[in-house]
Amino acid sequence: MVTKNRKNTQKSGEAPAGRSFCFSLAASTQLITRRLEFQPALHAWYRIHQRKLPWREAPSLYKTVVSEFMLQQTQVTTALPYFERWQRELPDFKVLAAASEAKVMKLWEGLGYYSRARNLHKLAQALAGRTEPPRSPADWQELPGIGPYTAAAITSISFDEPAACVDGNVVRILARLTGEGRLFRDGSAAAKHFTPIADALIIGSHPGTHNQAMMELGATVCLRQRPLCLVCPVAGFCSARKSGDPEKFPRLRPKQIEQRSVIRVWCEQRGQLLLKRSHAGARQLAGLYELPEARDLHLPPPDKKTLLAVKRRAITRFQITESIYALKQTPALRQIIASDESLEWVSLEKLDDITLSGPHKRWIQELRQHVKT
Ligand code: SF4
Repeated sequence: MVTKNRKNTQKSGEAPAGRSFCFSLAASTQLITRRLEFQPALHAWYRIHQRKLPWREAPSLYKTVVSEFMLQQTQVTTALPYFERWQRELPDFKVLAAASEAKVMKLWEGLGYYSRARNLHKLAQALAGRTEPPRSPADWQELPGIGPYTAAAITSISFDEPAACVDGNVVRILARLTGEGRLFRDGSAAAKHFTPIADALIIGSHPGTHNQAMMELGATVCLRQRPLCLVCPVAGFCSARKSGDPEKFPRLRPKQIEQRSVIRVWCEQRGQLLLKRSHAGARQLAGLYELPEARDLHLPPPDKKTLLAVKRRAITRFQITESIYALKQTPALRQIIASDESLEWVSLEKLDDITLSGPHKRWIQELRQHVKT
């Protein structure tokens, strides 16, 4: 398996790193050869040290699916209150399938990457039309929002399918265990490389436990920075620890960061705030409200004296600087607003009834205080 994968990676233009490549190949083979020792050591640690998480208590297919969707791109601590609320409001696939999109989006408000919520909703509706859920990773990948990682997580945990989950955590662990020194184009290329090794480490009848143990190790011990090698249950199998500098694995090509500037406006009148609602087909923000951009209103860059706040945020490889300016309504502006269905006046008292994107909800709360004072 490892030899086949080496061919694939060379084809994609990633040069093997000479001696370290031979070293990591030998280390991969050795790790797989020792899997009968590796897995018990990992599982014994997981049984004792796993975190108590609501989707692990009385687990069900529904809890697994919802948690896997929430945990894509989101930390466990951030997802926890959302998960608890979601379970109370939408306790199973049937209730979720019948819920309105507005309710689903409101429950997701602030968690970001809103296509996950829409896909989860669609997935529940797709399952509602079937007598039984699919069981294989390939069949799950036919459903909305399910990629190889999520399919492996769901089917291994819920149906004991021997499919390895290979996310950033697992890539990091395997790169360190094997001392893999090659430079990967990105996380997907690295995941592709390590999938055969991750699959080979799955033995026995509880692949879901194995996958969760690997992810738990990556989240709590084999940390990106300052890994806790002294308490690591698989330290005896680890090439990077022996090298003395585990943090340098995995080697991923640095992302090209792109700077973007956005000019937004705060236009308030008679207890109402002007907001823009993204159109229903928008990939990320469909149906969500945000402060409008100056260009939505065909406005030139506003006067610097009217600047209210500058906000910075990072989304994937973009560093975005958003400047928010106070804007007064004029007759020309009134016409523009009247002719654009996506622009709406929303009562400040009713902001909790609509779904704002996470950062805009925070900014609006801050700016309401600021504008009042
Ligand atoms: S020994 Fe250290 S680097 Fe190696 S797997 Fe364990 S925590 Fe990670």
